[in-house]
Amino acid sequence: MSRRRRAECSLRALRDVIPAPETELRYEDHWQLLVAVVLSAQCTDARVNQVTPSLFERFPTVQDMAESTSEEVFPLIQSISYPNNKSKHLVGAANLLVDEFEGVVPASVDDLVRLPGVGRKTAQVVASVAFNVPTLAVDTHVFRVANRIGLVTERATTPDKVERQLKRLLDREEWGEAHHLLILHGRYTCTARSPKCTSCAAAACCQYKERLDRLPDPRSGLDIRKGLYFCATRNHYFDEPDCVTDRAGVDQISCPRCGSMNVFLSKTGQSTKQVKDYRV
Ligand code: SF4
Repeated sequence: MSRRRRAECSLRALRDVIPAPETELRYEDHWQLLVAVVLSAQCTDARVNQVTPSLFERFPTVQDMAESTSEEVFPLIQSISYPNNKSKHLVGAANLLVDEFEGVVPASVDDLVRLPGVGRKTAQVVASVAFNVPTLAVDTHVFRVANRIGLVTERATTPDKVERQLKRLLDREEWGEAHHLLILHGRYTCTARSPKCTSCAAAACCQYKERLDRLPDPRSGLDIRKGLYFCATRNHYFDEPDCVTDRAGVDQISCPRCGSMNVFLSKTGQSTKQVKDYRV
C-alpha cells in the first residue's frame, strides 16, 4: 500500500473513532493556551490540567504573570517536569508579550519562537490551535504513530524529517487535524510500550501491523532441555545466540552456526524476530 493510501485510509479510520480531534489541555484564552502548552513539554496533558486552574486563578492575565517572579510561580507548578526553568520561561514570556506585543499572543510561529520557553513545536501547536495557522507539529506520539502506520519513509529518522514528509503527503487543510488525530491515537491506542493493534481502527492500513502479521507462527513441540533456542533453518538447538542487524536496522537473534534469523525460543515456541519499533 502506498503512503498516500495509508494516509487516506488511516485518517479516515481515526476520524471515525476520534470525533473531536483537539487538544486536551484546558484553557480559556490564547495566553492560557500558551502557558499550558509550555508546561506540557515533557509532561502529560492530564498533569498540566491539574495545576493550571490554581495557576490561572493566581495569575489570570499575561499582565499578572509579567508582574510576578519565577519564585512566585514555581510553587504552583512544582509537580510539573522542569518547574524551575518553566517558571522562569513563563515570567519571561509574559514580560516579552507585554513589552513587545501589547500583551497579545502573536499568531505567527516566527514571533512565537521569540518567547522564552517556546520552541518550534510549542509555537506550531499554539499557532494551529489558537489561530488555525496550518502547521503540523511532531511530538513523540506523532513521530511514533506516523512511522508505525507507514506515513513516512525509513529516512524520516527525526521529528523535523517526519514533519516535512507529512506536510508533503497531506493537504494543508489536514495538517492541524492530522496532528491531533495522531497524538490522541498515540496516547490511547498506539501507545509506546504496548500498542493495541488487535482493536485498532487503523490496523487495516498499518505497516507495523502488517509486519507483525508476517512474523512466523509459534512452533510447538520444542524441547528446552536440548537448548534455549531452536534454529528452524538447520533444525538444531543452541544456547548461545549470535546477533545480526536486519535490513530494517533491527538487531535480531541469529543462529551461531548458519547465521539464520529463523530462530525460536524453545520455552515458548515463539519466533525471536522483532518488528522495527519507533519509540523515542
Ligand atoms: S495497528 Fe497497532 S501499530 Fe498500527 S496504528 Fe494501530 S495500534 Fe498502532
